[in-house]
Amino acid sequence: MPSNYPADWMTKDASAEKRAGKKVDAKLSLEKLTEPTLVGARGRTEKGQAHWGGEGPSAKRCRHCVHWTPPEGIHMYSVKGVLAKGWCQEYVKLSNTKAPGPKFRHGALTCKHFIENPKPPREFAKLDASTGGWV
Ligand code: SF4
Repeated sequence: MPSNYPADWMTKDASAEKRAGKKVDAKLSLEKLTEPTLVGARGRTEKGQAHWGGEGPSAKRCRHCVHWTPPEGIHMYSVKGVLAKGWCQEYVKLSNTKAPGPKFRHGALTCKHFIENPKPPREFAKLDASTGGWV
């Protein structure tokens, strides 16, 4: 059956593996046949992020970005004191919508729109029984 694909449709790595008689993993092969950086970037990105995760500073997380917005007040942390999922304000701006985008976890890898928050929310907190607030 004639193929619509050019003769060099397979990347050199996958072709070399096939010629060497190695079994090519279908998932890996697909990654090689598509844009590798795009496939990897999709895997690193959470729904609701302004751009591909992993393109910002590697030592930082979305929690450290001024655009990342956690829920306010008592909903900021879970019952166990773990920082709740939040929204990316840059996503809202870029997608030209007034509604907040999908919430995602604070530990998401940063994107290229990262701007450091001088006072990022803490990852964990304890509930102060006397005031009813997080400390
Ligand atoms: S790094 Fe900042 S701008 Fe990028 S997705 Fe995270 S919160 Fe949004």
